[in-house]
Amino acid sequence: MTQLKTQGIYRFDCFGDEVIAAFSGREFPRAQWNEYLRELGLDASRLVTLRQIHSANLVLVQPKSIPGEETPADGLITRMPGAVLGIQTADCIPVFFWDPEHQAVGIVHAGWRGLYYGINQKAVQAFRQNFLSRPAHLQVAIGPSIRKCCYEVGAEFKDYFPRHFETVAGTHGETIHVDLAAALKSELISEGVDPAHIHDSGYCTSCRNDAFFSYRREKETPERILSVMALKS
Ligand SMILES: [Zn+2]
Repeated sequence: MTQLKTQGIYRFDCFGDEVIAAFSGREFPRAQWNEYLRELGLDASRLVTLRQIHSANLVLVQPKSIPGEETPADGLITRMPGAVLGIQTADCIPVFFWDPEHQAVGIVHAGWRGLYYGINQKAVQAFRQNFLSRPAHLQVAIGPSIRKCCYEVGAEFKDYFPRHFETVAGTHGETIHVDLAAALKSELISEGVDPAHIHDSGYCTSCRNDAFFSYRREKETPERILSVMALKS
């Protein structure tokens, strides 16, 4: 993880020099996303975002078919150099994918619904089907998201994520917490991703609300973290 000189820009360095994988901090509200992209050396006019709907839908970005912000989906994959794949989050998990062998990138929005519907497994499958990627060769990174420490949920989550919930005793009785990042990692590993290739930023958006937007902590902020993934052109 590298923090650029400019405050509020976080770049993964685990992927090497051929790709740019980064996410933004509070210093870059929506109105300043162009500036954030420029600092990363990316062309803001080539930013591709989606109408995120907590689904497991993924879209292949190709020169002849570039989705728009009305496209209902939660993941993007491409081999197009210069295309800037963007995902917006504030507590959900931005997940970055890189296949160095076939020069393909992807990014996914994974909240609890997306995880429940298997969006990350579908992303690995989409890499295999579209680019002949070998899952064991994929590199994956996990951006800032609400972590087990702060993610208190209802009892129904025991059914949704039976292996990843924990009952925590607190001053106001027992509460249920879910570890979505752990659920995500085991999903990826079950699809054949090498655990040594999963890189976690480790940031909790709620604990680190000083640095990142958090939907829960800020009572439904309209601001978002912009995570981007691009193959250098
Ligand atoms: Zn936390």
